[in-house]
Amino acid sequence: MILHLKPDTTEDIIAGLSAEIGGHYFYRGEQPVLVTSASMKEVPADAEPFTQDHWTFEDDIQLAHLSYTKVKREVPVGQVVFGNGTDTVFMTGPCSVESEEQLEKVAIFCKGLGVKIIRAGSYKPRTSPYTFQGLGLEGLQILRKAADRHGLKVITEVRDATHVDHVIELSDIIQIGAKSMYDHGILKACGLADKPVLLKRGFGSTLQEFVQCAEFIMSGGNEQVMLCERGIRTFETKTRFTLDLCGVAWLKETTNLPIVLDPSHAMGKRFGVPDLARACVAMGVDGLLIETHPDPSVALSDAAQQLNMEQTKALYQSLSPVAESIGRRIV
Ligand code: PEP
Ligand code: MN
Repeated sequence: MILHLKPDTTEDIIAGLSAEIGGHYFYRGEQPVLVTSASMKEVPADAEPFTQDHWTFEDDIQLAHLSYTKVKREVPVGQVVFGNGTDTVFMTGPCSVESEEQLEKVAIFCKGLGVKIIRAGSYKPRTSPYTFQGLGLEGLQILRKAADRHGLKVITEVRDATHVDHVIELSDIIQIGAKSMYDHGILKACGLADKPVLLKRGFGSTLQEFVQCAEFIMSGGNEQVMLCERGIRTFETKTRFTLDLCGVAWLKETTNLPIVLDPSHAMGKRFGVPDLARACVAMGVDGLLIETHPDPSVALSDAAQQLNMEQTKALYQSLSPVAESIGRRIV
């Protein structure tokens, strides 16, 4: 249940009620919001005098449920807005920050193309300990500086709670990777942050589990959350993962959060990425995340799936007609 308490309720009372019913509370501007388990179907007697409005739900998808807000939430990042119903935000950059030169090339490329948000990871959650693990804080600073030189915003990944504060400070969108979807240290820190968060779906997670992870962040007080489908594990082995577009349809129907698609990690191979990206845009999603490397053949991570700059440019230019055909535009 979500309760909107009367704004003149003192924090002592709210904290007391919250502890009593095992809830979480935060302030949306002046509005105190108290969220408790969806199993609560009636406003508790003690909370009644302080309650302005309340909503009940079938299960613990609550703050993220479309029935709560009735309209999609918008998440502004610099000059662009995710979730405004008309814009699909194109974000691109390499899998990993590898060097200043590499980032400079990609930042110039993004700027030239009109892309507003650059991506790159510096804390890489790799599948083997014997591969490149990312440049850590040094890489994060390289990314920030390159973006600032060219007026771009940054989306970058946090791997664990030990460096979450650095990522919160130096990014414009905090990316929680598929392998970290359930890291409660990260979820908690992001819940207290005042920055947009892109939560990726764990590749072995159901849609319910995925959206409930978003609820951890939102019930901490940070409602600027976006959901990213990046492929799930199925019986198929010919592609790296399976991009769950049925799941995307469900998320669009059920949740109020902006939806971003990452076909690069789903496909795992360069050849399918442009087709998948166009399919994603045709579904009317709020953002796209595409991996681009100046020379994918020497990339230190995800070499097989990254596009080179020419390929990304061609892909980018092919997206506008698709977006326009459904009344959207690429920004
Ligand atoms: C990435 O974006 O580089 C990444 C590691 O993605 P995912 O968490 O989806 O595997
Ligand atoms: Mn990658």
